[in-house]
This record gives sequence, structure tokens and C-alpha cells, in this order.
Amino acid sequence: MSEKETKQKICPVAAKCGGCQWINKSYEEQLKSKSQNFHKLMEPYCRPEAIIGMEDPKHYRNKVHAVFGEDKRHNAISGIYEERSHRIVPVDSCLIENQKADEIIVSIRGLLKSFKIRPYNEDTGFGLLRHVLVRVGFFTGEIMVVLVLSSPIMPSKNNFVKALLKLHPEITTIVVNVNDRDTSMILGEREQVIYGKGYIEDRLCGMTFRISPRSFYQVNPIQTEKLYAKAMEYAGLTGRETVLDAYCGTGTIGMIASRNAARVLGVELNKDAVRDAVSNAKRNQISNIRFYLNDAGKFLLEMAEEKMSLDVLLMDPPRSGSSEEFLNAAAKIAPERIVYISCNPVSLVRDLKLLTKKGYRTLRCVAIDMFPYTDAVEAVCLLSKLR
Ligand code: SAH
Repeated sequence: MSEKETKQKICPVAAKCGGCQWINKSYEEQLKSKSQNFHKLMEPYCRPEAIIGMEDPKHYRNKVHAVFGEDKRHNAISGIYEERSHRIVPVDSCLIENQKADEIIVSIRGLLKSFKIRPYNEDTGFGLLRHVLVRVGFFTGEIMVVLVLSSPIMPSKNNFVKALLKLHPEITTIVVNVNDRDTSMILGEREQVIYGKGYIEDRLCGMTFRISPRSFYQVNPIQTEKLYAKAMEYAGLTGRETVLDAYCGTGTIGMIASRNAARVLGVELNKDAVRDAVSNAKRNQISNIRFYLNDAGKFLLEMAEEKMSLDVLLMDPPRSGSSEEFLNAAAKIAPERIVYISCNPVSLVRDLKLLTKKGYRTLRCVAIDMFPYTDAVEAVCLLSKLR
């Protein structure tokens, strides 16, 4: 059997979707390959600890997105865009997505006809329902459904909500998001809560976090707990430290660190994320943390200029990695330890190269499998200042 046929047998849309590059490998093989790749990349810096995998690597995604459209006979279809195109490939269930979320999406598709809701047609601009996004609080069981519509007016909205809740009483909130633009972004700016509180909450490492339709939240909750625990182990906090959580998103890592630190600063560029971070800190009654809306590089530069002292720097930059401005300023401030969390080991080693030239060495590192069946690797590194 060819590789393509093997993949096709495991998942009928594997070739068109392209999301699970390693769907045809056993989980042991996947972990072995990820571990080997990571060892190779890290070779100049540090010998990695054993890769942290999942016990049950399926259905881990807590955020599920389906695009809606019509087939030639104008029947509603829902699924994913074919890789690098705008053709919709129908999907009812997926190996890595939360199963309840998949079921809810199929139910919504089934309700459309009787409510005379037409899926949106990208070519003609007719129709109402563009996407459905489902987010699940893994540890709380709360479920949010976001209906992305092309117009703010949804006919028989209340009855639709009633019918959906009858099929899925486990849904805790439903939000209408209006996206009337010709764009590849899924969510628009306008939102209307049509059932429940408009967000869900989830717990991580003993704290509660708010997840709004648009806020960033790690997609694999089981592995996220392991990732954050590792970051805290590397940070080695005793309760006396000043800590910076750079690229902090909704403040998860900094808040977990705040329990064992004197004070924590968080910096993040996205306004919505900072708003969520502030409300998360309040929700968890944390008083030794402050969040700043700023570019992390600029913020660090200001800290360096003001000669502020910092004991531990936690950083979790986006895929592209950090900037030279940030890394140079970090070296200038010279925290005792840097804990670097990365979703892209290639940009990680590029940044390690600079930091090791500027007086740091990599003491420990580990890969964590956040995205089974894909070729993506997440990593944590501990850097320590040379004396
Ligand atoms: N640490 C968080 C989020 C990590 S994702 C968590 O684990 O949940 C990376 C974050 O970096 C995103 O929230 C993104 O908005 C932010 N970001 C990207 N570029 C940035 C920059 N130049 N300055 C500050 N934050 C930035």
C-alpha cells in the first residue's frame, strides 16, 4: 500500500486536509521521530531529557473549527478547507478533535434546513452561516459554541438555541459572531451572546482561566499542564524572585509562577489577551502580578534602560521566535535564569545561538508532544547566566 493509501485508510480526508502529517505512524514512532529531530537541533547546546508524550494521543484538541458551505445540490456541508484552497472537504469526525465538539457541529448542520438557515456561499455572497467554532473546557466540561454569520440578523434565533440545547444540554454558552468581510480570518469583530455568559472557563495547574471566543488558549490541555509544570520546575522559584512572563497571552504561565514569586510582570501585544489576563488574575485573587500591553522587545528595552532588576525571565514567543532587540535587552538585564518555551524549535535554536554568545548557557531542555499526529514539537529550555 502506498503512503497515501495508508493515510486514506486511517482518515478518509487525510490527503486533502494535510493537518496530520504523521497519521500513518504509530504513536511510538511519532515520539521517536520527534525526539530524534529535537536531539539533532539541540546538539550544540544541551542534551534533551526524555520527550513527554501522551497516554492517549487522540481527540486532544479542545478547539474545533468547521467551515460551512453548500454542495452542488445546495445541501449544507461542513468541514475543513482543502489544503491551500477554498474548497470545502466535508468532515464529520476527526482523529485529533474533541468528539463532543464534532458531534455538536454535525447537529448544527442537521438543524439548518428546518430553520431555513442557508450556509454562506463564498462565491455568490449569499447565505448566513459561515463557520462554527466550538471550544471545550476540558477540566470543567463547559462548552462554547460560536456561530459565525455573514449578517447580524439571525431568523428564529431563540428557537434555534432551544433546539440545539435540546440535542446538546451540555452546551453552556452560545455566541453569534458577525464576519461580513471577504477575509481569511474566521472571526469578525462584532459579537452577541445569545445564550449563557459568553465565555467558558477552564482549569490549569489549580487555577481558573477565562476563554473568550477570540482569546488564545493552548489547544491540548493535558499536555499544557505538563508543559507549565516543566517550566515551573526549570524556573526554580523560591518565593523571593521578580519574574517577567514575556509574550504572556492571557497570563497563564505568569499566574502559575506568581504563587512562588515575590512579584510577576506580564507583557503581551494583544489587547484582548491582556484584558483576559487582568480578569484572570482577579478571578484567582492574585495580587502580585501586573500586566502590560506592549511589544515585548520594547518593554524589555525600557526595563534595561531603567536598570530594573529581574531574577527569572519566562518567555513564550510565537512561531517566529523572539527578536534581537528582545534578546539583547534580556542579556543586558541579565536575569539569573531564562526559561524559554517554544512552539518552533528552529527559531528556538536561532535565539539560543544569540543568548549563548551573550553570557548564557543552556542547562536543561525537553520536548513535549502537544500536537500528536502532526510533525510539530513544543520545547522548554532552561538557560542560566554564566558567572
Ligand atoms: N504564554 C501564553 C501565550 C503564548 S502564544 C500561553 O501559554 O497561553 C504567544 C503570544 O505572544 C501571543 O499571545 C501573541 O499575541 C504574543 N505576541 C506576539 N508577538 C508579540 C510581541 N512582539 N510582543 C508581545 N507579545 C507578542
